[in-house]
Amino acid sequence: MNKKNGVLGFVALLLFHQLIFAQSIGNILSSNQANNTSLIRFDNKTTVFSEQQAIAYLKSLSGSYKRTSFENMEPATMDQYGIYHKKYQQQYKNIPVENGVIILHSKNSIVNSVTCNLKKNININIYPSISKAEALTFALDYVGSSEYMWEDQAEEQLLKKIKKDLSASYFPEGKLCIYDKKNKYNLSKYYLSYKFDIYSKNPTQRQVIYVNAMDGSIIYCYDKFTDASAVGETRYSGTKTFETLHSLEGYLLRDNTRGNGIITKNLNFLGEEFGAYCTNIPYASAVDYVDDDNNWSAQEYDNFLKDNAAIEAHWATQVTYDYFNENFNRNSFDNQSAPIWVYLNPCENYENAFWDGIRITIGGGYLIHDNFACVDVIAHELGHAITGAEIGDHDVIYEPGAVEEGISDIWASCVEHYVNPNRNIWQIMDQISLNSYCERDLQNPKQKGMPDTYMGQYWINELSNDNGGIHTNCTVLGHWFYLLSEGGTGVNDNGDFYHVEGIGIEEASKIIYSTVTNYMTPNTGFEAFKQFTMQVANNMYCEYCVAYTSILNAWHAVGLGEPVSYYESYLMVDQNLSNIENIFAASNIVEANSHIYNGSGIDFVSGKNIIFSPGFHAEDCFLKASICACGEIDNTGYKSIQESYSETEDIQNVSPLKEKDVAIFPNPSRGTFSIQTPIEQYSVKIINSRGQEIYSNNDNNQNITIELNTEPGIYFIKITNANSQYIKKLIISK
Ligand SMILES: [Zn+2]
Repeated sequence: MNKKNGVLGFVALLLFHQLIFAQSIGNILSSNQANNTSLIRFDNKTTVFSEQQAIAYLKSLSGSYKRTSFENMEPATMDQYGIYHKKYQQQYKNIPVENGVIILHSKNSIVNSVTCNLKKNININIYPSISKAEALTFALDYVGSSEYMWEDQAEEQLLKKIKKDLSASYFPEGKLCIYDKKNKYNLSKYYLSYKFDIYSKNPTQRQVIYVNAMDGSIIYCYDKFTDASAVGETRYSGTKTFETLHSLEGYLLRDNTRGNGIITKNLNFLGEEFGAYCTNIPYASAVDYVDDDNNWSAQEYDNFLKDNAAIEAHWATQVTYDYFNENFNRNSFDNQSAPIWVYLNPCENYENAFWDGIRITIGGGYLIHDNFACVDVIAHELGHAITGAEIGDHDVIYEPGAVEEGISDIWASCVEHYVNPNRNIWQIMDQISLNSYCERDLQNPKQKGMPDTYMGQYWINELSNDNGGIHTNCTVLGHWFYLLSEGGTGVNDNGDFYHVEGIGIEEASKIIYSTVTNYMTPNTGFEAFKQFTMQVANNMYCEYCVAYTSILNAWHAVGLGEPVSYYESYLMVDQNLSNIENIFAASNIVEANSHIYNGSGIDFVSGKNIIFSPGFHAEDCFLKASICACGEIDNTGYKSIQESYSETEDIQNVSPLKEKDVAIFPNPSRGTFSIQTPIEQYSVKIINSRGQEIYSNNDNNQNITIELNTEPGIYFIKITNANSQYIKKLIISK
């Protein structure tokens, strides 16, 4: 020690307390993982220490560091202010002390300060009772992953290449060290430990584990990856926040907060181009996207390589995960938290994206498309992953292939609706199409040369054409889902008029999810898929409920089966009834104008409306009127609106008119039609599907013409004179 600048020259001792809360793994940790790091500053006017003098000074402090030595860890670095920073590892009897580190800061070979994180008063046995190999067994038992990086030869080769070191390996080398595990009073307790760095491939995680070298117990374990919330400018969706990982290399497009992770990687165009195809894609050579400050800006990533597509893909995969998690409580595509690997840039100019049973691969596009990393493509591919996880290995040709593509398109629309309902969610790949071209349109499939009717125009039958037109015929299912969600009126390729009341995309998506996860098998064609959805609807709703009717009518609209008939839709109870027990049910309207007496249990059940018209009279009855619930079935299966009903108007003598007495022409019409009838003094009422009267006209005689200015849809026309009544469905089309 330099006498002139003795210990009295030491001027300032500033203590900084920095709390580091390690991520808690299981129940091993207490939460008191606080470390004390201090900065010791020297007044260089009076204290001029060389590095060795500074170290000697530290060792002399309070005599707490017996048998402590310091080993230089890495070469000194010089910063922009000319300060050298040199790091040393604390050792006890030549065994490294974990986190025992000092950094000497010096200028012109004079130390001006020391960052100091030293472990005091160590006094333990340094001879282990178990071997390193035994300790590793305990560590791997604790981690319990199904696959490790060192077991994958491709990953091993890649690591050697990256590190330019043939001996590099992911295999956990293990080293003996002294670990300071604080007790709950933040007091140090030291353990002789083996430290292992264990990188798992499945699930993707990297942990550092300290195993007690005396008895093999796990002392401490932490995740080497740390989660971070990033902000970045995506290629198509503006500025978004997403999860990244902070690693030694920087921030990576890896998200460990969802399932076992979402990992987005760059293949750097190393696949082999083969015409429009890309083969021999070297997935093991893919590299992480790395950002230094976790602000993924356009300046950095909006480049000719379209690197901002990786930000889009990473974000889109996260929101797709969230969609299924929030709506269906599904944890990743397999519902067992499988990691989701997303790879960009397989080949240059690659115009496609696919799910290969393991991962998503996304092409950068060329002349027809921009980069495929958009929300609906990611959701479509993860949709395949879900279907695959649910129904197992399966062929993707002909109808089963088209059904599967249709399901994936449906999820694409659902996820788009989830993240941005203001977009046209029914167009698939519209965000990435160049020249305003888009691949599929579920609202108007024919605009893109694809069918909206089963086996209708544009339907493809040849196996040689896209495996039986799976990416074309799929729009029949997509259009069914569109009609079910949004509703619609029209005439399909079979010449059938249809009218569907939309039930909303959220409700419609529940039917798809339950169908895919509970009913579908490989080789599910359109008819089978229809049957499954009807069964699901049966589970979810009472059969007269609007949703149930809409599902059936939507299938009819795309050419599969009959709609809910007029008789199922509308029921007129006009006979006088006594001594009965009966259910009168219809999906749309149940109307009664009859005289009922001595009824022991009479139920009126409808999906929408129950109308008691003038003339209705019930006496000595227990009568129940119920509207079917959609989605919230009580234990009776119905949502009851009225427990009983009774009225005492006089009975009118009413009898139904015969078909031959009245003709309505044309029907369907665009709103202008004629009533042709010989009867006199009749009234006309027109009722919409919500049971509201939209037109009425009294004192008509014989033939008349009505001009109705109203929405397309299904209506009921009621023609009544003094002693008769006639009701018919009236269809107004566009
Ligand atoms: Zn597909």
